[in-house]
Amino acid sequence: MVDWDRQRSRLSDRLRERVANEDVLAAIASVPRHQFVPEDKRHDAYADRPLPIGSGQTISAPHMVAIMAEALDLSPGDRVLEVGTGCGYHAAVTAELVGPGNVYSVEYHASLADDARETLEATGYGDISVRVGDGKEGWPEHAPYDRTYLTCAAPEFPAPLVEQTCDGGVLLAPIGDGQQRLIRAEKQADGTLDSEDYGGVRFVPLQ
Ligand code: SAH
Repeated sequence: MVDWDRQRSRLSDRLRERVANEDVLAAIASVPRHQFVPEDKRHDAYADRPLPIGSGQTISAPHMVAIMAEALDLSPGDRVLEVGTGCGYHAAVTAELVGPGNVYSVEYHASLADDARETLEATGYGDISVRVGDGKEGWPEHAPYDRTYLTCAAPEFPAPLVEQTCDGGVLLAPIGDGQQRLIRAEKQADGTLDSEDYGGVRFVPLQ
């Protein structure tokens, strides 16, 4: 029998070198990543690396999920919009920090969204809402969001996502066409963004 719990808590401990927020580390220690990755990749579920999840897409490395969760500065009750559900793992980590009923995620590929819904239900995160569609449009029905993040790279923050984020809220995304930078932007009262560069990253592009 593989001791997944032990592997997972070791991963969380290793991430302490890069992430200081203990709530984020506890979230990583809670979400069963092995249940989100394809069965033939399970043995690598708690290695700190990205993994293929089908439809040409990848689940980010755990350290990237943790760094993004820390940068978003998530608190219980925050309403969060995620663009790029993929297998649902990142959404589950977010849900650990804000509560599953506060997480809204949009996925372009219907097959990934269906699988993610099933896995989220099976792992106790069934209250996360997943919609199939173009994440560039956001999910206006549940706006405004306190936090908005993309797990795929965009040339710039799509205007509807900025609109659907509340004043003083935070957007986070890999930005760039070729070279990408992880950009955290705080929305000001006049609608402009105050941006901070978190360094070079590599994500799949937005469709
Ligand atoms: N957060 C995911 C990682 C997903 S990889 C996880 O934990 O597994 C990026 C995801 O963005 C892919 O699933 C891809 O299909 C999705 N995507 C790409 N373009 C999109 C778009 N325009 N709208 C919504 N999702 C998109």
